[in-house]
Amino acid sequence: MSQKLRLRTVGLGVLLAVAAPVFAGTILKASCPCGFHADNIMAGGGMANFKALCAAPAYCAACKKLEILNYLDDDPKCAACAGKPVFYNDPSLQEKLPPGAKPGIIFSWNTDKKGTFSLPNVNYLCPQCGKMTLRFVQSGFWD
Ligand SMILES: [Zn+2]
Ligand SMILES: [Zn+2]
Repeated sequence: MSQKLRLRTVGLGVLLAVAAPVFAGTILKASCPCGFHADNIMAGGGMANFKALCAAPAYCAACKKLEILNYLDDDPKCAACAGKPVFYNDPSLQEKLPPGAKPGIIFSWNTDKKGTFSLPNVNYLCPQCGKMTLRFVQSGFWD
């Protein structure tokens, strides 16, 4: 009987491990050779709010700031100047790659409302130095 119980626990553990990447958000880090860095960017949504929340990095050109905003907001605004930020999935914030290049994906989040938000593994516009030298990396998960 105790063996049966143990099997069941293991089964649940596997189930959770498989389900986690689907619903848990991703923790991203951004850094640039100029010294700019942003840790603990909580991207995506948690278990409780994944339908209404897709937290994602965005850039405000007026403030030259990287911010975390909700991609699913109807009218996302910069917290500092109330201007219109551009989310980092926008090609204008990404380094142009040669035709045919297939970079991997660092972060991807499916939403009912606005389709898939994804960040390819390329260089991005740095809010501090203004060069296309900012990189995002995954540093963990949250839920
Ligand atoms: Zn702003
Ligand atoms: Zn920089």
